[in-house]
Amino acid sequence: MREAEIVIAGAGLAGSIAATMLGRAGYHVVLVDPRPEYRPEFRCEKIDGRQMQVLEKTGLADAVRAVATPDGMSWVARKGRVLEKRKGDQWGARYETMVNAVRGEIPDSVEFVCGKVADIETSDEMQRVKLADGEEIAARLTIVANGLNFGLREAMGITREIMSPNHSVTIGFDLEPAEGGAFSFPALTCYADRPEARTSYITLFPIGAAMRANLFLYRDADDPWLTEFRNAPTETLHANMPGLRGIIGDYTVAGRVVTRGIDLYVSRGVEKPGVVLVGDAYSTSCPAAGTGTLKVFTDVERLCNVHVPHWLSTPGMAAEKIAAFYADPVKMECEAHCIAKAHALKEVSIGTGPMAAARRQIKFVGQSCRGVLRQLRGTQPVQTVPEMPKAGISTAG
Ligand SMILES: Cc1cc2nc3c(=O)[nH]c(=O)nc-3n(C[C@H](O)[C@H](O)[C@H](O)COP(=O)(O)OP(=O)(O)OC[C@H]3O[C@@H](n4cnc5c(N)ncnc54)[C@H](O)[C@@H]3O)c2cc1C
Repeated sequence: MREAEIVIAGAGLAGSIAATMLGRAGYHVVLVDPRPEYRPEFRCEKIDGRQMQVLEKTGLADAVRAVATPDGMSWVARKGRVLEKRKGDQWGARYETMVNAVRGEIPDSVEFVCGKVADIETSDEMQRVKLADGEEIAARLTIVANGLNFGLREAMGITREIMSPNHSVTIGFDLEPAEGGAFSFPALTCYADRPEARTSYITLFPIGAAMRANLFLYRDADDPWLTEFRNAPTETLHANMPGLRGIIGDYTVAGRVVTRGIDLYVSRGVEKPGVVLVGDAYSTSCPAAGTGTLKVFTDVERLCNVHVPHWLSTPGMAAEKIAAFYADPVKMECEAHCIAKAHALKEVSIGTGPMAAARRQIKFVGQSCRGVLRQLRGTQPVQTVPEMPKAGISTAG
């Protein structure tokens, strides 16, 4: 039987960062994933400044920045007007590009096994990791970083508490100026004008030469509006965000339109000897809140910098030892922040009560004031607001 100090199940963002950190720290690590290369998948496509700060602590920020496109400057728009132009702190890259860049940093000492973990037999001393092809690996610790794939956790008796089913939907596509050439803005976040649009915002950011768009909304996965969007993306986007064209000019949705809905869940019954869950394997967060990778980076940074060194330098691997990771104050604060932000953003985006309306207005005023202050300080050029065009078709819902 193959033996290791640590087995990592899953080489997505969380598992690949963990494998790099632990391999660099000199541990004997086996990394298991069904694919030698991460395939194109619609997930996080940009890293912001706060996330980058946590990623720095993993030693992998440079590797991600090397394959990402900085936005340089970012505009913020509400109610058909650009309110702020601020220094950009976002790095855009396709998810698979980011993961494969991190995989490229994994030291040669880490053994990669192309396979699927089917079950883990746990004990206070050694874990027996069973692969789908029958191979078994013995290890003191197993890190489960297998993302949304619930089968392995289920086999281990771990359950999922769904805190918000169909919480949000994300649509990804490229956007091009209708007349050709390039857009005049470097990057833009444009919030929806009306709660009836069931939309939080659209974020436009460069990835290489392309202008990438992520549209975040709140609809059920079987909502006919999503089919409408796939069939006529440019017209449906225009109807959904009528102010956008006035800000960025005539545009066309280009390339493949990808749609992905997400449930917010947290895993329960996770305190098991010798097994620890990180990233989406532990809990999901709302893409609109942009906190998924913050959670991944925080989990892996705390696990690999703080907990694993302590666990492996002391005898045994009992459940009480593992519980210290889930009770880590930095991780707990991050989890609480992610879930609170997910709910607050949904409420302020589509809430129809007076409180939600007041919060939207406060945000509008706050961003307007910040924009004016930047103009006064000379850090934001004055923006002439083009006249808003009339909406072409009506929005469903
Ligand atoms: C549409 C969408 C948009 C998003 N946008 C943002 C955003 O703008 N900002 C943000 O911060 N976050 C965003 N997120 C969240 C973020 O992408 C995730 O939190 C993050 O990708 C989770 O990484 P992970 O490593 O936990 O899982 P993954 O990257 O999914 O990795 C899981 C890995 O496990 C492997 N695996 C699966 N089963 C097994 C098994 N049995 N054995 C071995 N390996 C296995 C898979 O092959 C995969 O390589 C978004 C998510 C979605 C869905």
